[in-house]
Amino acid sequence: PDTVRLLSSSQVITSVVNVVKELIENSLDAGASSIDVKLENFGLDRVEVRDNGQGIKAVDTPVMAVRHFTSKICRHEDLEHLETYGFRGEALGSICAVAEVAVTTKTEEDEISTQYTLDLTGKIVSQKPSHLGQGTTVSVMKLFKNLPVRRQCFSSTKKCKEELKKVQDLLMAYAIIKPELRLMLVHNKILLEGFFPKPGADYSSTSTSNPDKTFIFVNNRPVQHKEIMKLLRQHYAAQYADDQARNRYPTLMLKISVPPSSVDVNLTPDKTQVLLHNKVTTKLNLNQIDPLQAYSERN
Ligand code: ADP
Ligand code: MG
Repeated sequence: PDTVRLLSSSQVITSVVNVVKELIENSLDAGASSIDVKLENFGLDRVEVRDNGQGIKAVDTPVMAVRHFTSKICRHEDLEHLETYGFRGEALGSICAVAEVAVTTKTEEDEISTQYTLDLTGKIVSQKPSHLGQGTTVSVMKLFKNLPVRRQCFSSTKKCKEELKKVQDLLMAYAIIKPELRLMLVHNKILLEGFFPKPGADYSSTSTSNPDKTFIFVNNRPVQHKEIMKLLRQHYAAQYADDQARNRYPTLMLKISVPPSSVDVNLTPDKTQVLLHNKVTTKLNLNQIDPLQAYSERN
């Protein structure tokens, strides 16, 4: 039965775009007005779709990913006035057969949201409380992990780019037909958190005329990274020119969070130097960081 399930699922779920489409349609069917799509490594490592829809009722969660379960039709006649994208109850179950799936959901009635981890057959294997608000988040990890040939086929740079373009086009299509919908796509998001005091702020007590008080972290690992240091210095020079002129140097801290797949920490034995994918470095836009409230350090 495992082989049969894998074969039929692999016909329903054929690509990253396909996964995104099924998940978005489920979100729309759930009445979502806001949908966030996040991809890591072109969706091959992770596709995550978060919505603010009605959520999945607790009674439905054990069967949500069971093949042919659908909450959308009860009787045969319902098919005649179908107003939902889905009605076959095939998508979620099929995705489970070809990837690792977690579903986090909260209805209006639920006090808090719950994250369910599903197995290959769509059964819940574990559950835990979660902090997310009303709606549903479906995470699909390691797509086609058990179909190595297909995964390989989607892994070439050319194919990856083609597929990403298809995802963008698909989202565009839904955005056009649903102008009231808030729809977001993020690919390999880099989270930047900086500790930059406001220029001109009272950080005089740290002005030890040492412009090198700079800390960089990649995924919480303190690192040295020439390029990023250079970016940071340039940013610093532009933002804090007046301070610099007065020989005042704040401590700068930059925390970068990236998908583990885009960083190589094994450059030096002590792991203080990391190699980031070229794209990550060029995407760093330090202007997106607001200088934090001034801190005053009392000696
Ligand atoms: P279908 O959409 O054909 O019903 P799916 O396999 O796509 O089948 O989804 C199975 C069921 O899981 C849906 O009928 C619905 O009850 C629930 N579900 C899936 N995704 C969501 C979502 N984003 N919000 C609310 N319910 C969902
Ligand atoms: Mg569906």
